[in-house]
Amino acid sequence: MPIDATEPYDPNNIFARILRDEIPADIVYEDGWAVAFRDINPQAPTHILVVPRGPYVSWDDFSERASDEELAGFVRAVGRVARENGFVVPGYRLLANTGPHGGQEVPHLHVHLFAGQPLGPMLA
Ligand code: IMP
Repeated sequence: MPIDATEPYDPNNIFARILRDEIPADIVYEDGWAVAFRDINPQAPTHILVVPRGPYVSWDDFSERASDEELAGFVRAVGRVARENGFVVPGYRLLANTGPHGGQEVPHLHVHLFAGQPLGPMLA
């Protein structure tokens, strides 16, 4: 079910539980600001989710409430995930579904990173 991007943060959402190591994930990157792990239902040869460590529901929540340090740390982390996996030259796609029209289902901000093949004009 798509979520409301302005709802209060639920500390027991699935990505919060991954961040607390309560449930397993195939983690490919972590630093002080972000954790990246493989999507369980990949929509491209490589499909990684990058999440901030802080409690933010959505892109809207994060861009409004996060400190400048958190914003910069998260953006750099997303770039590093792509760079360290060799995606810069062939290219990749970033996506942050937000709210019901965006189709956001997990209420902890996540940026999807798709790579590994030409992705076409849009992903469904
Ligand atoms: P959204 O529609 O942008 O909220 O995307 C949520 C994504 O999380 C989907 O692509 C799911 O496949 C993915 N997902 C849900 N639960 C897990 C999990 O436990 N591990 C990894 N990915 C997950």
